[in-house]
Amino acid sequence: MPVPQSERTTGASIQLRGVTKRYSHDGRPAVGDVSLDVAPGEFVTLLGPSGSGKSTTLNMIVGFTDPSEGEILVDGRAINDVPPHKRDLGMVFQDYALFPHMTAAQNIEFPLRYRKVPKAERQRRVDEALEFVELPGYGGRLPRDLSGGERQRVAIARAIVARPVALLMDEPLGALDKKLRESLQVEIRHLHQELGITFVYVTHDQDEALALSDRIAVFNRGRIEQIADPETLYERPSTLFVAEFVGESNTFEGIVRGDSGAIRLECENRSLGVPAGSSLRSGDAAALVVRPEHVRIRERRESDEGNVLTGWIDQILYLGSTRSIEVMLDGGGAMMIREPAGQWSDAEPGNTVTVSWDLEASILLPGDSARGAEAASP
Ligand code: ADP
Repeated sequence: MPVPQSERTTGASIQLRGVTKRYSHDGRPAVGDVSLDVAPGEFVTLLGPSGSGKSTTLNMIVGFTDPSEGEILVDGRAINDVPPHKRDLGMVFQDYALFPHMTAAQNIEFPLRYRKVPKAERQRRVDEALEFVELPGYGGRLPRDLSGGERQRVAIARAIVARPVALLMDEPLGALDKKLRESLQVEIRHLHQELGITFVYVTHDQDEALALSDRIAVFNRGRIEQIADPETLYERPSTLFVAEFVGESNTFEGIVRGDSGAIRLECENRSLGVPAGSSLRSGDAAALVVRPEHVRIRERRESDEGNVLTGWIDQILYLGSTRSIEVMLDGGGAMMIREPAGQWSDAEPGNTVTVSWDLEASILLPGDSARGAEAASP
C-alpha cells in the first residue's frame, strides 16, 4: 500500500560506539564493546543465539536499558541521556505489548495522545495507520478479539503512527506459526520499502535474517562476530561460529600443514585439500566448512576431482524442494548433502558412496580454540 507523501522520510542513522552493558560487576558483560553503523533507511538485523546480547543492544538503542560504557548516536547526536519517549524511535516486541483494555484504535492512538496531537489529526492518522497495516475497519476490536498476526499488525501500526525516524523490532514474529511468519516477513519488507525509515530487527532465526536484511550483524557471547550483507555472510563467513550459525555446514577441524603453494588440512583421520590464498600458516588450527549443496554424491567407483571421501548412506530425508542425505564417513564423522529436486542421484540408504566437493567450495577458517579435536559434523 502506498504511503502518503507526508509520511515519507529517509530515516535516521544509528551508531553504536564501543557500547558495553554489564548487569553485574562480575563475569562477562551481556554486551561487550559493540560498535555498529546503521545507515539512514537501512534494514539491519541483529542475529544470534538466545542470550547473545541482541535484545540488550536493541533496548540500549531505544533507551530502556542504559549502557555501562560507550555512546549511542542517532543522526550523529549522542542520545545516551535522552529518555526513551523523546528518542523518536518506534518499537515492536514479540509479545505485542498492547493494552488489553483498549481497542486497536485506542492502542494505536496512544503515542499521539501522549504527544498531544489534536483529536482530528489523531483520528486521521490512526485510520491511515490501520489501513497501512491492512486492518481497515478493525479499529473497534479489543486485542483479545484479534488473531496473533493481527495483534502484531496493530503493534506495528502503533509503533509507526508517530512517524519515528527508525523502527526497532525485537523478535516480532517469534510467537507466530511458520506460515504466518513467512507472510508477515514479506509485509515487513514492504513496510520498510514504503516507509523508507531505518529498521533494526532482532531475531535468532537465520532464514528470517537472510530474507529480510540489507545487512546482518551476527552476535555471539555479547559481541559482533561479523557484519555483512546476507550473501557475503553465507558465502564468506569470517569465523567458524558464523559459518555454522548461518546456513547448514559440514565442518572438519584440524591443523594446517604445508607451505603456501600446497597447503592441506590434516585432521585426525583424513587429509583435506584447501583452497589457495588462505592467510593461515602451517601449524595453525583451522576448520574447513563445506555447504551441503556443494557436495556431490555417487556410487563408489571412479576417482573425483577435489576432496573425495568414502562412506555409506545412513539416512535420506525428503524435504519437498530438496532432500537431505546423511553419509557416515569411513574413518569417523558424518556429512550432510543436499540435493535439489530434479537433480537427485540414485543414492539409497545403505549404499556405499563417495562424496566430493571442489576446492573452491571449501571455506577455510581459523579453528575455534574453544572446541575439541577433529570432528566432522553436519
Ligand atoms: P538475546 O536477546 O540475544 O537473547 P539478551 O540481550 O536478552 O540476549 O541477554 C544477554 C545476556 O544478558 C544474557 O546472559 C541474559 O541472561 C543477560 N540479561 C539480560 N537482561 C538482563 C537483566 N535485566 N538483568 C540481568 N541479566 C540480564
